[in-house]
Amino acid sequence: MLSPLDYFFGLFSLDIGIDLGTANTLVSVRGKGIVINEPSFVAIDRKTQRPIEVGARAKEMWNKNPKNIMIVRPIRDGVIDQFEVTEAMLHHLIGKAHEQSWVPIPRPRVVVGIPSGVTEVEKRAVYDAAVSAGAREVHLIEEPVAAAIGAGLPVQETRGSMVVDIGGGTTEVAVFSLGGIVISRSIRVAGDEMDEDIVQYMRKKHNLLIGEPTAERLKLELGSAYPLPREDIRPVKGIHLVTGLPTVVEVSSIEIRDAISGSVGIIVDTVKDALDDTPPELVGDLMESGICLAGGGGLLRGLAERMQEEVNIRCWVADDPLTCVARGAGRILEDYTNLRRLLVGLERGSTRH
Ligand code: ADP
Ligand code: MG
Repeated sequence: MLSPLDYFFGLFSLDIGIDLGTANTLVSVRGKGIVINEPSFVAIDRKTQRPIEVGARAKEMWNKNPKNIMIVRPIRDGVIDQFEVTEAMLHHLIGKAHEQSWVPIPRPRVVVGIPSGVTEVEKRAVYDAAVSAGAREVHLIEEPVAAAIGAGLPVQETRGSMVVDIGGGTTEVAVFSLGGIVISRSIRVAGDEMDEDIVQYMRKKHNLLIGEPTAERLKLELGSAYPLPREDIRPVKGIHLVTGLPTVVEVSSIEIRDAISGSVGIIVDTVKDALDDTPPELVGDLMESGICLAGGGGLLRGLAERMQEEVNIRCWVADDPLTCVARGAGRILEDYTNLRRLLVGLERGSTRH
């Protein structure tokens, strides 16, 4: 039976939304908004196999770590790749969200995003990880739906809407009507692939060896999908492939655009392909409402212009695209009675492994 004290604290029950992304993990708390936003990186001590850092501090060590420390990105292509590490990361982050509340609160109700079209086993892994990280009740939501709600799209209406969520590992394209996904596409080409393109480009064109963190920085500083009003140049440090010596090379935004153009083209083609399969009535709606870009990749300069030119439908970037999924999950908790039908369940008897 509940003691009066348990009942009292139950009134303050903590409801949290989690965006477990390949690149970033975000936690939002009902009534407070986003309280945690950290890279999905964990530093592990090889000897004890225990996590020593989680989030930004672990990402800082990426590609600089000594041999006794291993840097792990536990989410790959949007799904859990390393279960125990994900569990430890969630445990740490849910614990942090807990610490920030002003009353000792019982275990939280959690809504977690999953990519659309994942297997039952992959869903079960997310569910189990959240339970063992301390959640009392776990619900799953397809990330494109959460992203669309976070971006303020009218997914529940008959009027069609479309979201393109470009993350670290995957790009998810979805067309919605009446609260459901009508058409969806998921590809493993997104931000990480662009970083890899830049590493390859520097190697081939400049004989320069750089790591992924440097490539990502170049993408953020110089990257674009469409000619810029003012092109830019940056020095890049790396190792010369022929001499083996530390070298600085100047690289331009035009070169970086060229380097990532293949991946950008694949993303644009996937949107075209999804539109080809979309019923004409819904395409008509999209011509009015436009296509919403979300996820960190949505911030790539000129992507909306490039996409718009190729698909002939207005494209726009969501407000704060990196937080759409977490805000969408948070919105569901705020209006749980009305929005719970957007959640997805697990099939009975599905097990991990
Ligand atoms: P995930 O949901 O997979 O964790 P996010 O939505 O957090 O991914 O987006 C992370 C990706 O977005 C990373 O690849 C990152 O490099 C990229 N990104 C973030 N900001 C920008 C920017 N301004 N321009 C281009 N890419 C960006
Ligand atoms: Mg994401």
